[in-house]
Amino acid sequence: MALSEFDIIELYFTRGSAARDDVVVGVGDDAAQVRVPEGHEVLVDVSTAGENDIADADPASLGHRSLALALARLAARGGHPAWFTLSLTRPRADERWLEAFSAAMLALAARHGVQLVGGDTTRGPARLTLHLHGLARAEEILTPAGARAGDAVYVTGKLGDGALAAAERSGELALPAEDREPVLERFRLPEPPVREGLALRGLASSAMVLAGGLAAALDAPLSQRGLGATIQVERLPLSDGARRSFERAGGWGLALRSEEPCALAFTVAPRRRGALERRFAELDLRCHRIGTVEPRPGLRLALDDGSEYGGPS
Ligand code: ADP
Ligand code: MG
Repeated sequence: MALSEFDIIELYFTRGSAARDDVVVGVGDDAAQVRVPEGHEVLVDVSTAGENDIADADPASLGHRSLALALARLAARGGHPAWFTLSLTRPRADERWLEAFSAAMLALAARHGVQLVGGDTTRGPARLTLHLHGLARAEEILTPAGARAGDAVYVTGKLGDGALAAAERSGELALPAEDREPVLERFRLPEPPVREGLALRGLASSAMVLAGGLAAALDAPLSQRGLGATIQVERLPLSDGARRSFERAGGWGLALRSEEPCALAFTVAPRRRGALERRFAELDLRCHRIGTVEPRPGLRLALDDGSEYGGPS
């Protein structure tokens, strides 16, 4: 028997995410109602996936990544994730697909205290729209615009697996057996930097996700303000797989280009560096200082001995 919209919502989208005290009305009524705490602002991130993104996607990975990448973008703003809505259009109600998709998405939501509060479910060409809402005090909100010359540049997470996963998935590269599974699994179910984003509040001067790679994430927002940076390539934290594939895959350029939608770059004023590094250590979070913001547009690559890096990029 075909599932109705009501059945689908009841079976797959009513339970499983977080249950928050600030949700007055959630899934089930005409419009969700949530309480915004005094002195906070609401940050909203929207992500969509169309027919091509959905057609061949593993449903668990699609469900997880849709929310994970939104959580990462919210983390880059210093936002505390709170609620999300999901609009889903499918050509037919495929129970196994819906089960895998919603279980992965809602499990990630529960782990980060985010509640699914509403949405829409319709029949038609596959499409997905997710609105994630987060909370932050105005003075804690981060943007890419806050960087100043002299600030230190940091990254969270390791770099390179994004490029390796893309190359492996397109058939361009055959990873050694020991790297293949872990690299593809981290691509399938990436861990969003939610705790890292919250740890930046009040200390970082700017933050950005590395969805388009480190070089792109830094270059555009800095150049727009007449700024640039020197990156010390030997300090880039390479993943184990990237380290092993380093020679074949093209030097530090791999780490600079690698698309890591769940890693952040951030900048910190010199007087706040100590506090930032202590906070990360206390919370058992990793970050690596990789360079310095400078009053000159463009990214420059340097070796630790001070010389310019001119190797394969
Ligand atoms: P109908 O279209 O049958 O009138 P609605 O679109 O109003 O039903 O949906 C019923 C309830 O379920 C609403 O609270 C809506 O926000 C919620 N809802 C619908 N689809 C989803 C979904 N995919 N995920 C979460 N909530 C959903
Ligand atoms: Mg509806």
